[in-house]
Amino acid sequence: NFRCRSAFKLLEIDGKFRLLQPGHSVLDCGAAPGAWSQVAVDKVNSAGTDPTLSQGTVIGIDLLRIPPLDGAHFLSCHDVTDPTTQAKLRGLLPNGQAHVILSDMAPNASGFKDMDHEKLINMCLSLIDLAEKVLQPKGSLLCKYWDGILTHKLQEKLLSVFASVQTLKPEASRKDSSEKYFLARMYKKPGM
Ligand code: SAM
Repeated sequence: NFRCRSAFKLLEIDGKFRLLQPGHSVLDCGAAPGAWSQVAVDKVNSAGTDPTLSQGTVIGIDLLRIPPLDGAHFLSCHDVTDPTTQAKLRGLLPNGQAHVILSDMAPNASGFKDMDHEKLINMCLSLIDLAEKVLQPKGSLLCKYWDGILTHKLQEKLLSVFASVQTLKPEASRKDSSEKYFLARMYKKPGM
């Protein structure tokens, strides 16, 4: 029983790319109400449900309150783009590092399409800064964006630090929405 239908988008992407493995540390950005975290907890075995597999970690964060979930550690009422939050996240992750950063974040839509697009692209760009602090080498980033004139800017930035960047439009995502995802893999940590 998922908290939100968005779970099916992550299940679909994970089914295809096997992003989330038992033992992985996952950071779920914009996690409320927690459906993606439910999927992540199951895949990385962070609740220790299967004692034969290694136990992972799921940290979720949102501006809103996230109802508790077994196997996940939530930072409610926190802004991902805030540097003090980023320092906190580092403290919560094993060795301060994540294998995967997920982001289904979205700003409250103003109705002005270009403005909303730009706002979400900027949020995604801030995830690249976050990656530099917490993503381990060869790690992955999956982030939602709304397609528009600045998409290429985000794509280029991602390509400068990840070996592989793919555009995804899950079946479970409404056809009439400009929502898409970038899956960036094989993180090339700057200076390594
Ligand atoms: N993936 C979630 C799930 O499956 O339950 C749904 C996420 S919902 C589409 C987007 C969330 O992003 C909202 O809860 C919103 O509060 C959050 N958000 C937007 N800006 C944020 C920010 N700067 N920091 C943290 N969360 C943010």
